[in-house]
Amino acid sequence: MDAVTILAKLVSFDTTSSRSNLALVEWVANCLDRHGCCIRLTYDDARTKANLLAMLGPSREGGILLSGHSDVVPVNGQAWLSDPFALSERNGRLYGRGVADMKGFVACCLEQLRNVACGDLEHPIYLALSYDEELGCIGVPRLIADLLANCPIAAAAIVGEPTQMRIGQAHKGTFVMRTRLFGREAHSSDPSAGLSAIEFAARFVQRLCDYASELSLTKTALSCLEPAVTTFNIGQIEGGTALNIVPARCIITWEFRPIPEVDHQAIQERVDALGAELRRCMQQRVPEADIQTEIIAAAPPLRWQPANTAEALVRELAGTDAEGIALSFGSEAGLFQTAGIPTVVCGPGSIDQAHKPNEWLAID
Ligand SMILES: [Zn+2]
Repeated sequence: MDAVTILAKLVSFDTTSSRSNLALVEWVANCLDRHGCCIRLTYDDARTKANLLAMLGPSREGGILLSGHSDVVPVNGQAWLSDPFALSERNGRLYGRGVADMKGFVACCLEQLRNVACGDLEHPIYLALSYDEELGCIGVPRLIADLLANCPIAAAAIVGEPTQMRIGQAHKGTFVMRTRLFGREAHSSDPSAGLSAIEFAARFVQRLCDYASELSLTKTALSCLEPAVTTFNIGQIEGGTALNIVPARCIITWEFRPIPEVDHQAIQERVDALGAELRRCMQQRVPEADIQTEIIAAAPPLRWQPANTAEALVRELAGTDAEGIALSFGSEAGLFQTAGIPTVVCGPGSIDQAHKPNEWLAID
């Protein structure tokens, strides 16, 4: 099977993040299955999705890890000229959902890995295929935990997001956060008898925005990162039941995207401190009141590590002296790097085509 045939098969599985990816995972496992290839699956809580980790060759340190995600973004409401889940070829381009982001890379890996003689390898090659990347890198932490617990550490990781085969050395992180506020209900004729969760949510949001302004004074030294600062977005607020009830609950869903140079843990600690300050204030009025912030998804930034082994490997394979670049989009790369594996992002296709109707990948 060549890469285009494999890609056609991968595209035919509708692995929109809201759906199961198990059929695709099973097909990939069968595709690789042979003596010398060890397949490990790690599941989500509902067991409707799985990460696949394949190790080809000896169980030894110094291997190379190829990383892709199996899920794709929805096609709802997009104007496609052909069936997004049936690969079609027009003018030297392959069209289909996920061809650039990032089943094209996975297809290229599978074409090569099927032909590798596992017994000849001095070091292992890993294929790491995750679920729910498009929801904020939710799936891959389980794969990485399993990898660290059961496999020798790899010497380099290549995350095949679409960079037009340039070497992505850095990008921002993405942290998805949820803050829940608990007050006390009361009749609105006497608000002082209760505690408005919405009122304190508004204060919390204001403090986050002030903090965002403070952080925006620190600009990244990396070009290509737009905007060049850490950003915050308050995406959703839900709270209250009726005009005449003091609201007891409010939920804020928000995110921040740190530049590689800032310490994202310090940001989380500062946010915790802002919450603690408000909690004290709330509990002085109503002892049961509370404010809790949890991390829904954490994808740390990819930090530029000059002359790392992954960069050296990709340069050698590609025969290029081209400078590495900073990427405008996030990926799982920061998670592999945090796990101690030198990591770069490099894959076919352009991010300009990702998530759009008529997503395409040039055959060459
Ligand atoms: Zn992607």
